[in-house]
Amino acid sequence: MRRVRAAVLERADAPRPFATSRPVVVAELELSDPGPGEVLVRMEAAGVCHSDLSRLTGVRAVAVPLVLGHEGCGIVEAVGPGVGRVAVGDRVTATFMPRCGACSACTGRRWRLCERGLVANAAGALLSGERRFRRDGVPIDHHSGVSAFAERIVTSEHSLVRIPHAVPADVGALLGCAVLTGGGAVANAGRLERGESVAIVGLGGVGMAAALMAEALGAGSITAIDANVARLDVARGMGATDALTPDEAAARGARFDLVVECVGNAAALSTAVAATDVGGRTVAVGLPRPGTEVAVDALALVTEARTLVGSYMGSGDPDADIARAAAMVLDGTLRIDRLITGHVALDDLPEAMDRLDRGEAIRQIVRFPEP
Ligand SMILES: [Zn+2]
Ligand SMILES: [Zn+2]
Repeated sequence: MRRVRAAVLERADAPRPFATSRPVVVAELELSDPGPGEVLVRMEAAGVCHSDLSRLTGVRAVAVPLVLGHEGCGIVEAVGPGVGRVAVGDRVTATFMPRCGACSACTGRRWRLCERGLVANAAGALLSGERRFRRDGVPIDHHSGVSAFAERIVTSEHSLVRIPHAVPADVGALLGCAVLTGGGAVANAGRLERGESVAIVGLGGVGMAAALMAEALGAGSITAIDANVARLDVARGMGATDALTPDEAAARGARFDLVVECVGNAAALSTAVAATDVGGRTVAVGLPRPGTEVAVDALALVTEARTLVGSYMGSGDPDADIARAAAMVLDGTLRIDRLITGHVALDDLPEAMDRLDRGEAIRQIVRFPEP
């Protein structure tokens, strides 16, 4: 048992701005020792992601209170009984859906989310079903099995992937969510081949990561499409060779071998489908509100031999994908550092959420002080 400072989401429908309504408060919590298969991690850095923001706005409903945050990097300080994936002293990055490796989904031939991980995440628990944070003795939920906005966390070893110490903690924090999701959409679901033309619709953290992965894999051209003109300017600095608003893209009739949609609404996916060339692939990555439907030109789908595919968590094996991304970071081909637009303290999360909400930030990193 130890005491840690952590960012607790107290309400899931707070009005904007969050700097005023303050739905996230930093509290001192009790953190239990790791149980069987669990790991104690001293957090070094955690990214502020749209999936955190959507918990504040109620776009993705969640029970409260919970300790927010799901993309983070840290050092293993202790391991519970039976842990074999990581060891004390390892640098690890968290993934937002545990992968038990033993259920029928994890061992099946097709890509599926871990059955046990889905149940645990929906319950706000760790893979074991347990909660390790308490406030005045009352358990508090975990966010995506991680809860990265805390000085120390306990999580399942199946929520962690070991990364080289040479990968800086800021960059390491982004490997388990933005890079896994955006990079995997390009490399796994999109099967990008060297020299192909790529368009990215929606240049938030995941979209920018997709653009950086496309650059690293040798795309012939990378076109950023976003209604936010300021983001288009940023995208030009992230390897985009062209940058267009959705209206400009439609007016030009521009079409691409691979189009990756990272917004999560019907208009953006329609833009992505319209911008996909004959024989090309459209990859949907953005998470729309439940019930969202999109009209697709069925004749064009057939006669143009198009592919429309969804991608979640990179559509691959997180261990292999994160190892590949880490190697690309270290050899200089994947410039994830360029995603980072600022650093904040744990206490400044509401202000950071407002900046993300207004589209003024790509990835802000919560840095935790050295012990
Ligand atoms: Zn995320
Ligand atoms: Zn599983």
